[in-house]
Amino acid sequence: MIKAKFAGNCKICGSMWAVGDDICYQKSPKAICGEKECFTQQGGTISTYQQATFNPNNKDIIITKVPDVTVSDSVKQVADDWMQFFVVAHHMTKTIYPEQDVNTHVFGQIRSRIIDQLCYITRLQKD
Ligand SMILES: [Zn+2]
Repeated sequence: MIKAKFAGNCKICGSMWAVGDDICYQKSPKAICGEKECFTQQGGTISTYQQATFNPNNKDIIITKVPDVTVSDSVKQVADDWMQFFVVAHHMTKTIYPEQDVNTHVFGQIRSRIIDQLCYITRLQKD
């Protein structure tokens, strides 16, 4: 979603926009329109962030750009190990802080600290 630099209109649905209006624009496949529905029909993709702009109730969104790289087996193995730490840390957090709602930032932060500590202890044991 961008601010229109020029006034224009959609070649598909004919909707018009003026300079400074929010319009959806995508380079490839090329798609441009001020209307979300028309834009997606043209093959445009609306990111979560852009959806948040369309739905003002939903603003506190973190934009993540995942790099497009090939993941090697050794890294996948590390990820598998990490998942196990995550599961253990999740249950530990629940046990230690039974009153803490699982779907909160605080819970996530405690869990993530425990994951760090489990990794650290595992490393100490290996050395
Ligand atoms: Zn259109």
